[in-house]
Amino acid sequence: MSKDIYEYKAGEDWYIAKWGSASPMIYHLGAGEEKLTGIRDCLASLSMMTEGQPSFELVVVKKSSDEKLLQFLVEMLNEHLGRTLKLTYFKGLILISEENRVLWTQVAKEELKLSEVLGQAHVLGETLLIATRNEGKTKEFRALFERLGVKVENLNDYPDLPEVAETGMTFEENARLKAETIARLTGQMVLADDSGLKVDLLGGLPGVWSSRFAGPDASDEENNRKLLHELAVIADLKKRSAQFHTTLVVAAPERESLVVSADWTGYIGFQPQGENGFGYDPLFLVGETGKTAAELTAAEKNQQSHRGQAVKKLMEVFPRWQTTL
Ligand code: IMP
Repeated sequence: MSKDIYEYKAGEDWYIAKWGSASPMIYHLGAGEEKLTGIRDCLASLSMMTEGQPSFELVVVKKSSDEKLLQFLVEMLNEHLGRTLKLTYFKGLILISEENRVLWTQVAKEELKLSEVLGQAHVLGETLLIATRNEGKTKEFRALFERLGVKVENLNDYPDLPEVAETGMTFEENARLKAETIARLTGQMVLADDSGLKVDLLGGLPGVWSSRFAGPDASDEENNRKLLHELAVIADLKKRSAQFHTTLVVAAPERESLVVSADWTGYIGFQPQGENGFGYDPLFLVGETGKTAAELTAAEKNQQSHRGQAVKKLMEVFPRWQTTL
């Protein structure tokens, strides 16, 4: 059964919708009503402003952009009424469609040239190629980007592409190298990531060498053993501080790449603990919790991890980046 109350609250956005109202009602607390004209117009185009229909009361406490509120409304209508609405950002336009029919559009940036929408529509397309052959990683990104109307592929769809060696000295260099090389070779929009563990006492090592700390084909156990060995004489946990780091880069031909990063802070424990996760998770004590990352469920880890945080940041800035040439 669907819920009666839907709420979204994060940063500069807070909206609450309550179903069961006799007629559609929309309020903005604090700011001017005119800020909701576009939203009313959109809901009318989606046939949601007619009296007698299933209806909701929407309270906008604060909002940073129309896009976020529209995303909230689309997801709610899909969940509550079983609709199949899709929100797409395309070349400076916000577009809402259902079963291949465009129901509503709005210009998403201050000034939009016709050539940007029509003349170069083929340049970026709506496909994002994830620079990985890992289907698990692809699946996570697909769930996020398909909500923005972006189709997701991975390197298994391009079997002839050469491997891009991670020869950079920083996470950003490596992620850029992968994303920008593959974007150039394929003409596609490409997302690449690079992650690793930085230990303060080791000057940031193993860093970009995290997967090969104990040697070129080292296993997770061998890397963990080497890390414990390097820190063997450090008995004070506070001195064993460390961060997991992720950098994500989205590149497209002839575009400035989009770069976001995030850190997850903690300490390196004295022995492995926990069975979940991978890599250095059994040694990474999360913040002040005393629990390792390997003692968290996948969902708990995703909510707070370096990768989870970086993906959240990316979803905030990607729609705007995609629409600005
Ligand atoms: P990748 O760039 O995501 O492939 O990560 C490179 C290496 O960093 C992995 O092989 C792990 O050793 C380490 N690493 C990255 N993220 C994590 C994590 O979430 N948990 C444990 N180890 C990680």
